[in-house]
Amino acid sequence: MLQLITILNRCHRFPGFVYHQARFSSDHKSIEIAVRPRKGSRAVCSRCHQPAAGYDQLSERRFEFIPFWGFLVFLLYSMRRVDCRRCEAVIVEEVPWGDGKRTLTRAYMLFLARWARRLSWKETAEAFRTSWEKVFDAVEHVVTFGLEHRKLGAIDAIGVDEIQYAKGHKYLTLVYQIDLDATRLLWVGKERTIESFRGFFTTIGDEVASKIVFVCSDMWEPYLKVNGEEPIMRRKLGRVPVIARARPVSPRDNKAAPQSESSHAINSTSRFQRGGLEDLAAPSTFSRALRLASILARA
Ligand SMILES: [Zn+2]
Repeated sequence: MLQLITILNRCHRFPGFVYHQARFSSDHKSIEIAVRPRKGSRAVCSRCHQPAAGYDQLSERRFEFIPFWGFLVFLLYSMRRVDCRRCEAVIVEEVPWGDGKRTLTRAYMLFLARWARRLSWKETAEAFRTSWEKVFDAVEHVVTFGLEHRKLGAIDAIGVDEIQYAKGHKYLTLVYQIDLDATRLLWVGKERTIESFRGFFTTIGDEVASKIVFVCSDMWEPYLKVNGEEPIMRRKLGRVPVIARARPVSPRDNKAAPQSESSHAINSTSRFQRGGLEDLAAPSTFSRALRLASILARA
């Protein structure tokens, strides 16, 4: 019989670690796979990324893996800590399937983030019986990883959008590249504050920022009105024109229907996420403006 561990070893194998047991959880709703270090393999320091001497072992953690035939799947692993000479500190090891304190495995985050390009984040969460927050985590991980590991190149036009979540009490700021040949999510900022938005410019750097030609946003006010300070966009981008200010039905104008407010807000992310410019051909002022911006940016 083909064993689960055999399959995992084919698709998700890591040197230095072994899968040593797969079992159902006590409620039979999930599959738990115990992972342990291969005998004699040394832990790797998560700060300097070099092998280091062992120190101790923490209690077992659960890392959520891609669900399998209706079962949730978890990798169970007790992280080791190392006494790292280079860093002169006791530091938790890095594991190839995880990313810091995140509870999802990298594989599952990549999986969710790929679906989140096709569906809204809410639909993605429902389809895989997970939470909106986990989909957000996945997208944020993939976007951050992409920014750290890939050269950005020139960006002509960006779209700045916001979405509400947690029943409309919290906001995320999303920045998309909306050039004709590249429509992609560039950056995700928790909250909708000037401070959080500065992170975007820090991430892309002054050289890339100085070449941006157009900005599309229907949420411009928070970024223009800063007490006594020159607005961040003006300072960073000079007199770059803002293309769109109109949204067909603003969620903020729809206070009577909080339910639809949140679904509209979440679905609004897919305005860019569904990718490609075909989608921007939808008959709305905003998307027409986006397309115009992309074309103008290339002109
Ligand atoms: Zn180290």
